[in-house]
Amino acid sequence: MQIARAMWSESFAHASYSCGKGKRLNQHCGRCVPCIIRRAAFVKAKIPDKTGYHVDDLSSEAHNDDVFAARITVAQLASRNISRWVCEAGPLLSNSHERTQYVDVVRRGVEELKTFLGGFRWQ
Ligand SMILES: [Zn+2]
Repeated sequence: MQIARAMWSESFAHASYSCGKGKRLNQHCGRCVPCIIRRAAFVKAKIPDKTGYHVDDLSSEAHNDDVFAARITVAQLASRNISRWVCEAGPLLSNSHERTQYVDVVRRGVEELKTFLGGFRWQ
């Protein structure tokens, strides 16, 4: 089953759509927050990303609002209490076990961003 799932992911994951700003481009922009998260997920899953991005190399996009926000988020990961940080976004689940799992999803997601964004030489 895991092999079948991995094969499906490699074959079809790139065909999904997640861009928040690509309608005018008729393709993924590659630099909006949903695209950055998508790209980081491909890297984490070790699935070749066959998506055609309008902007593939983010190195020269350091001052793009979304790219900058993602980089700031990653930079804050080491110095902030992630549970408090997540709570600042709004009320969380009252069940402490579920809340812990939710915070862990956020932490792992930011770590995925860190790995992905760490692959660029920022200009
Ligand atoms: Zn996008």
